[in-house]
Amino acid sequence: MATYDVADRSAVVTGAGSGIGRAIALTLAANGAAVVVGDVRQEAADAVVAEITEAGGTAVAFVGDVSDPAVAVAAVQAAQALAPLRIAVNNAGIGGAAAPVGEYPIDSWQKVIDINLNAVFYGTRAQAPAIAENGGGAIVNISSVLGSVGIPMSSAYVTAKHGVVGLTKNAALEYGAQGVRVNAVGPGFIHTPLVDANLDTDAQAALAAQHALGRLGDAQEVANLVAFLASDAATFVSGSYHLVDGGYAAH
Ligand code: NAP
Repeated sequence: MATYDVADRSAVVTGAGSGIGRAIALTLAANGAAVVVGDVRQEAADAVVAEITEAGGTAVAFVGDVSDPAVAVAAVQAAQALAPLRIAVNNAGIGGAAAPVGEYPIDSWQKVIDINLNAVFYGTRAQAPAIAENGGGAIVNISSVLGSVGIPMSSAYVTAKHGVVGLTKNAALEYGAQGVRVNAVGPGFIHTPLVDANLDTDAQAALAAQHALGRLGDAQEVANLVAFLASDAATFVSGSYHLVDGGYAAH
């Protein structure tokens, strides 16, 4: 596990009840941050809080739907009650329908854009001024390798993830002078419940072969990069899009 100093501060992690977000929450807590474990499901958030506290860390569960702007504001307040907010990871996301653009269901498009893009805006909008007031810190927005390339049948997801990269650059420009670093992370295909829900074994094997390393990634491998970006080890890293994709985008 990565060891980066993130002590004496709180962190908001959305979608932290499962997969990549869970690994990020556990890693930040193990490195000293007090973590707001955000998720839409109470039992998922509670289970991660229990893991953190059993390991000696500090965490609280925060239940809410990230596509509600008020939830982003309330999550910041929950974090400030623990310690000054200086880290936010906007991670919650969904896959969406699989269809070509001409047949893409409008409701699925809107849901994917709401959760995977609009919610990252709501989060960053609430978090950046609070982190600035606390003297600075870091926001990490979870995009995807599909924030830089497309993949057939997933136009909503690809559009949202490209949008996250643009939002990240703009927020970095606007808040850098106040000490707020904003970065995007682009995971390749990572073995999580999201991937299991959307891709069968054959599809996962075919995708594994698309990565230079010949396998899917592990959530901890993404959390290691996020912990670095969130920490004081990355004080000159901002406005960038960082792949952790096992070489998927290399060809
Ligand atoms: P995951 O295992 O499904 O975890 C996502 C978590 O977010 C789940 O606990 C989910 O709750 C929660 N969530 C979903 N909608 C929410 C909402 N509206 N409000 C609050 N929480 C919500 O997914 P993951 O694979 O770890 O993905 C995490 C992030 O990484 C996503 O942004 C995803 O796009 C991105 N990513 C994943 C991969 C990959 O290959 N896994 C690759 C690149 C990028 P439920 O379980 O109840 O839905």
